[in-house]
Amino acid sequence: MGSRGATSHVVSGLDIALWDIRGKQLGLPVYELLGGKVRDDISLYTHPDQTGWNDENWRERIEEEVRKIVDSGHTAMKFDPFPHLEAENQRNDGYLDGAMSRKGERIAREITAAAREFAGPDIEILIDAHGRFNVPTAIRMCLALEDAGQIDWFEEPVPVESYHALAQVREKVNAPISIGERLHTRWEFVQVFENKLADYIMPDVTWTGGITELKKISAQAETYYVPVSPHDASGPINVLAGAHVMMTVPNFYRVETGNADLSKYNAFIETPLDNSNGTLKMPDAPGLGIEMNMDYLNANRVEI
Ligand SMILES: [Mg+2]
Repeated sequence: MGSRGATSHVVSGLDIALWDIRGKQLGLPVYELLGGKVRDDISLYTHPDQTGWNDENWRERIEEEVRKIVDSGHTAMKFDPFPHLEAENQRNDGYLDGAMSRKGERIAREITAAAREFAGPDIEILIDAHGRFNVPTAIRMCLALEDAGQIDWFEEPVPVESYHALAQVREKVNAPISIGERLHTRWEFVQVFENKLADYIMPDVTWTGGITELKKISAQAETYYVPVSPHDASGPINVLAGAHVMMTVPNFYRVETGNADLSKYNAFIETPLDNSNGTLKMPDAPGLGIEMNMDYLNANRVEI
């Protein structure tokens, strides 16, 4: 397996735990151990709840969710305007032919245009294509959404395996391209930088190799003037571990969070995350700065 995939996921968990332990031993936040902060708090982008975006009252649902984000003070959001794709292709397991019908394209345009309409001109709109498309479809979708919603990035236009496919897409589109949640360790980013394949990179600290690896990838990116935007799909440790690194990284864009309202985490962490006004206020407690509620976690343990 080398250093990638399942291996780097396991190493990430160990690495994050060791930084937390070392910080607690020395009485310092992780960002101090990494060289000290270059900013006071962490800009975020977040997600709307897309339930109902494909139903009859889809415009009302989009308006409701977009308003919630804007009212919370967040200035950037990300969504996937292709919720109908799986139904269209009668599959739910990702890539098969990578195609999209004209009707599917129309729906994606309408969703994106509605989100832009309700968000107004000043909110950054990021689109996640989840690596679903073949080359011609990715180009078509990106150009369509640039037109429909003045989008601020187009994420994972094609599946992760082919850098050549990504290069073909980049030649034909205008929107900034973001990739990296499925890249493991700094070695997998070398070709991305050297071949100018991404405007943003979004490594996941819990997958790519931990705090140590995210810091090194970020320093690599800094030499190419590429901003880093840590990916989050798994909760408060994911968010905080990425945020500690970004406190020390100049070439930082935003950290991802799953929702504008993070209170669902409060059941299993002792101190709630403060993301008021769309920025994460970093705890100055030692280590990662939070304690897990072990009673809750043990009571809700899933045996696998
Ligand atoms: Mg993604």
